[in-house]
Amino acid sequence: MVDVKLENIVKTFDGTTALKGISLHIKHKELFTLLGPSGCGKSTTLRIIAGLDYPDSGHIYFGDEEVTYLPSYQRGAVLVFQNYALWPHMTVFDNVAYGLKIRKVPKEEIKRKVEWALELVKLKGFENRYPTQLSGGQQQRVAIARALVVEPKVLLLDEPLSNLDAKLRLEMRSEIRRIQRELGITVIYVTHDQEEAMAISDRIAVMNVGTVEQVGTPRDIYERPRTEFVASFMGKTNVIPAKVVERNGDKVTVEFESFRLDGLHYTEKSDNVVLVIRPERIKFRPGENTVSLEGTVDLIEYYGFFTEVVGLFGETRIIARAISDKEIANLRPTQPVTFYIDRDDIIVLPKQNL
Ligand code: ATP
Repeated sequence: MVDVKLENIVKTFDGTTALKGISLHIKHKELFTLLGPSGCGKSTTLRIIAGLDYPDSGHIYFGDEEVTYLPSYQRGAVLVFQNYALWPHMTVFDNVAYGLKIRKVPKEEIKRKVEWALELVKLKGFENRYPTQLSGGQQQRVAIARALVVEPKVLLLDEPLSNLDAKLRLEMRSEIRRIQRELGITVIYVTHDQEEAMAISDRIAVMNVGTVEQVGTPRDIYERPRTEFVASFMGKTNVIPAKVVERNGDKVTVEFESFRLDGLHYTEKSDNVVLVIRPERIKFRPGENTVSLEGTVDLIEYYGFFTEVVGLFGETRIIARAISDKEIANLRPTQPVTFYIDRDDIIVLPKQNL
């Protein structure tokens, strides 16, 4: 069992704190993703887990063993770089065999293991090619085979799909998932792409300027974001600044512009809040527990499998998504519209200084 635990990891570069006390518990056999915008500290975290860099303070454990200052080759975690870092003068076979050769594994065993790894990534028959004779996707597979051949306890992938075109990206995404399930290994994956993170991960840690804002399943993070940053990072959503004007137990009434919405769940102290509303949760007919907003239609945009209706409520633009054209057949730009939202679909969060 190789759980990976990070306890309060701090890392500073030339006076800037890249990691401000990161704690994470990644479970055995989990595909765990570090997600966040450029510069938030994802790669630094991964390099510290790999042992390519050491933290200023904090501890890292693989299972019960503390590995914080253990050299990379002694911890059983292998990092696959974004640019694959294949050796151009070596064949595919030699690239994959390299890690075994330096470990002085017998020749016959090397052959068997390289064949196994190349089969796993579906590159059997490519043994004698050089990296320049491979497509981007194939190079990526070689890099993954090279990492897996040494049977790491933990596989670390840093933006592994970012150099591939959109179609290959989707293909490799499923491949990584398949390989991870087949081998039953722990994978820690870094990306800035929220859709990729949602599709591939068992759990996600959303990072923002050197801190972890939330850890959860893709569903948790999307449906129950705990901060404004997480809510706005996870796809197109409405984030409306508002004020709490009344409290009654765990329910509040909030105001934005001239609108008043009551019966919303909120227990935090700050009265400066944002209302997070996913566009697909807005309806055009009232329900049992809905609040309503009356405004005008600003735009209607057809996207194929859904249509977006942008409503104007005072100065505030709110986006709704309709799956069926029937619901919105009567709507026209500049004409009145009422948006209905279930109270449970309005997430009230303290306003952050983003
Ligand atoms: P990206 O997606 O752009 O790779 P990231 O989330 O992986 O970003 P990191 O590469 O971990 O972010 O960088 C975190 C912060 O630490 C950034 O502000 C970066 O400039 C800084 N940093 C990272 N490595 C170094 C280094 N070797 N020297 C100085 N500063 C560094």
